[in-house]
Amino acid sequence: MRASRLLFATLRETPGDAEVISHQLMLRAGMIRKLATGLYTWLPLGVRVLNKVAAIIREEMNKSAMEVLMPVTQPIELWEESGRAQAYGPELLRFRDRHDRPFVLGPTHEEVITDLARQELKSYKQLPVNFYQVQTKFRDEIRPRFGVMRSREFIMKDAYSFHANQASLEETYQGMYDTYHAIFNRLGLNFRAVQADTGSIGGNGSHEFHVLADSGEDDIAFSTESDFAANVEMAEAVVKGTRPAATQALQVVETPNAKTIAEVAALLNVDPSQTVKTLLVRGVADEDGKYSLVALVLRGDHELNDIKAEKLEQVAAPLTFASEDEVKALGLEAGSIGPQGLSIPVIVDRAASVLADFVAGANQAGKHVTGLNWERDAQITLVADIRNVVNGDPSPDGKGIINIKRGIEVGHIFQLGQKYSEALNCKVLGEDGKPFVVTMGCYGIGVTRVVAAAIEQNFDDKGIIWPQSIAPFEVAIVPMNQAKSPRAVAAAEELYSELLAAGFDVLLDDRNERPGVKFSDLELIGVPHRIVVSERGIDAGTFEYKGRRDAEARELNKADLLVVLK
Ligand code: ATP
Ligand code: MG
Ligand code: MG
Ligand code: MG
Repeated sequence: MRASRLLFATLRETPGDAEVISHQLMLRAGMIRKLATGLYTWLPLGVRVLNKVAAIIREEMNKSAMEVLMPVTQPIELWEESGRAQAYGPELLRFRDRHDRPFVLGPTHEEVITDLARQELKSYKQLPVNFYQVQTKFRDEIRPRFGVMRSREFIMKDAYSFHANQASLEETYQGMYDTYHAIFNRLGLNFRAVQADTGSIGGNGSHEFHVLADSGEDDIAFSTESDFAANVEMAEAVVKGTRPAATQALQVVETPNAKTIAEVAALLNVDPSQTVKTLLVRGVADEDGKYSLVALVLRGDHELNDIKAEKLEQVAAPLTFASEDEVKALGLEAGSIGPQGLSIPVIVDRAASVLADFVAGANQAGKHVTGLNWERDAQITLVADIRNVVNGDPSPDGKGIINIKRGIEVGHIFQLGQKYSEALNCKVLGEDGKPFVVTMGCYGIGVTRVVAAAIEQNFDDKGIIWPQSIAPFEVAIVPMNQAKSPRAVAAAEELYSELLAAGFDVLLDDRNERPGVKFSDLELIGVPHRIVVSERGIDAGTFEYKGRRDAEARELNKADLLVVLK
């Protein structure tokens, strides 16, 4: 492409409202513009990158799945059938058409695909089958931020597989796990697959794929030497016994009335499938003025005040104190003492140290601490903020050390089981001629988020440094002294045609701008290879080449040039 034909919308200044580097650079490079909160227009340069990401995803998905395209607008009846019309909450945008019929803007497509499958699939012989699409989603995020990283409208690749049984699901799931590795490798990302919690949704297998970046909103725990990797919720299962200091500090005493998270959720009347991490440390005073303290992690996005003190007492045997002073002596912040007792909500960042102090003090005082365990973990565990607790612990498999890093969730695969197929009555005929409910898996990739995540990992003070596979252009050619040197222009044109013919995605920077302006634009938009064509080079039979990560330019002849561009 000729740069004179491309909308160069580069900005010199960093936009004030962009917090993270990818958002800043996507605005500065002229890839996106904001329309309204959480809504972005993709400019031509951005679309080039987006299309390359989508093309790689499609190529890999086409090896084992079939592409479909489902409507963004979905009748709410389907969501009522699945039970999610109520359960999904305010992220689901609802509206009515001119006939007053209720619809939603799809945040995901389990309902629609299951509706399709129950009509189209008749027999076990058609299974397993895997459908995918690349489609716009809408989620009315409570806090849209970081540009396209957490927007309200975004593009997802979502796939849904249908199976005769769990074994078949597991096989396809493993295949998708491998496909995701192939995709993210081709996208040039530094990523990790981590075990994820399946919550109450059913099924027993889930992995998230995280791009490692400090700006990530998630914490992931992984071993330096083995394959162990888990997201923060899942990693709670490894707290116990993973670090000598923490094990001591978080010494947990088993009590007969410790509950599973499902039991706790039922008692507290909260939804355990939500994934927002809220750590609540709360004290309660009983009638004769003794203070009790219990700690638990709630995974739901619930108002702390919704949970009544007496409910907390039911879920764990409380630690009792003679007075408020005794509570404070354990290093806890003073909380408010109301009719229901002492309430100490603690933000997650500080929670671990508060808990560690609390437990250490409690153990010193010879008190018992009760924790709540997760469903999958038979042992009674005091659940604490994993980030501070397990960082630098040996890995639970004994190999390597646990590191906690920040991750951006770019993909998520999930063994759904029969949650949707059962609710929507999606059955096919079995070998015995009897209908049975199919088993499902789902597999998502945030296509627009991947673009931002790639930038979070690849930038410097001059701008973006694209992995070659998704760069808007692979090579830029700059003719030197364009206005006065027809020789340089002709040689640049010749090289342009030659590289295009060789299959490179080339930008010929024929703009009427000074070389300095062109160079800084090309660095900002992140073109991996830059070639300058000058009279001096033509005479010497060389081109001036500079890789986007190189400190200095160097002179290369044509043959060597073609080698470095590969
Ligand atoms: P998050 O935890 O970041 O809110 P999620 O777990 O809600 O994401 P999934 O339902 O697993 O998201 O959707 C699959 C993928 O879609 C995610 O892994 C992510 O890459 C992408 N995605 C989800 N929400 C957004 C969003 N608001 N903006 C951009 N991409 C998103
Ligand atoms: Mg979400
Ligand atoms: Mg998530
Ligand atoms: Mg997810």
